[in-house]
Amino acid sequence: MEICYTFRMRYSKLFGKTIKDAPKDEVAVNAKLLLRGGFIDKLMTGSYTLLHLGRRVEQKIEQIIREEMNATGAGEILMPLLHPKEIWNEAGRWDTAREIMYQFEKDGKEYALSFTHEEIVMDLIRKHVASYKDFPVKIYHFSTKFRDEKRAKSGILRGREFLMKDLYSAHVSEEDMMKYYDEIKKVYIKIFKRMGLDALLTQAGGGVFTKNFTHEFQVIADSGEDEIIYCPKGDFCANVEVKTEEEKCKLCQTPLKKAKAIEVGNIFPLGTYYSEKMKVNFTDKDGKRQPVWLASYGIGLTRAVGAIVEVHHDEKGIIWPKEVAPYDVHLIHIEDPTTEKFVKEVNDTLEKNGIEVLWDDRETVSAGAKFADADLIGIPVRLVVSKRNADKIEFKERKSDKSELLGLEEVIKRLG
Ligand SMILES: [Zn+2]
Repeated sequence: MEICYTFRMRYSKLFGKTIKDAPKDEVAVNAKLLLRGGFIDKLMTGSYTLLHLGRRVEQKIEQIIREEMNATGAGEILMPLLHPKEIWNEAGRWDTAREIMYQFEKDGKEYALSFTHEEIVMDLIRKHVASYKDFPVKIYHFSTKFRDEKRAKSGILRGREFLMKDLYSAHVSEEDMMKYYDEIKKVYIKIFKRMGLDALLTQAGGGVFTKNFTHEFQVIADSGEDEIIYCPKGDFCANVEVKTEEEKCKLCQTPLKKAKAIEVGNIFPLGTYYSEKMKVNFTDKDGKRQPVWLASYGIGLTRAVGAIVEVHHDEKGIIWPKEVAPYDVHLIHIEDPTTEKFVKEVNDTLEKNGIEVLWDDRETVSAGAKFADADLIGIPVRLVVSKRNADKIEFKERKSDKSELLGLEEVIKRLG
């Protein structure tokens, strides 16, 4: 599926400009840089607007996930966020998840704002699927989640309202469930790689989801709220919450290492826990009623945006990996009447070649301020058109200190 993006944006028309200082109460690097860069706006603690640039990064992440989900045969749906109490009562989570769930009463009826959808998916399967022939079921959606966070201090890494992708798979047997579960482990590593994140498959506990073992995807970062213990050779990784005693890797005897990490995804082989409580059954080959095997798989999208910033930045600002950058190119014009025609030609040619351009067309802003903004915003390639460069364009990658003077054709070739 192709998403129609605006290919170019003039900085003068962009809603959400860079600001000099982040609000004093922000301590997290991701929030400071995203606020200063004009990617997000803070409504209250744990609650942010994605401004145009932030939304574009999120959309790029969303599209990577969509492509990889579809490739496993999963189908996209969209489920409601406002849930009646009764459905949460069926599996007993109205009470057990009370701590983190927004619950309220309106006109004598009780509701919750969703932080996950296991019960809703089970209800859908109960209504729409009956025979073993209808399995496996693989459905996913992108939606807002609500969580009553008591310690929302990590910028967009831990919001009270945030975007998530959740996938649910339902199966006729444990064997079939685990086969898809193992496939998704690999798919998740690939998804995070495409975003520029080296995620480690990590053993973890189940929280309010399950008593079974589960897996998290952790990205090593000093700002992480989790702590992991892992084999540096990649044999093993666990959240310290579930494993603390061992000192050496069982496989290769290398001493295990500890590190702070950000959890960017989690997967849960839930089994028949929900189907038994909610009486969600299918008819097997012999005509017997059997409980459905369920697994769920989450990726936090807003959290991924924050994690990418935590991993990819320097003292000047953000350094977006290519595949999730809000635009491909940051085009700067050092204002001069003799180069106006040329900068328009550069912009049009880039657009015709499918290259997404953020064009800093501001007339009263100094070259130095424009360069500082480009470094803060962090688009992978900066192009400068100026009188001094004549019919050449200065080409500089955000991650490098070197710049080169290139002709327009060569620039297009490099960006292709
Ligand atoms: Zn090892």
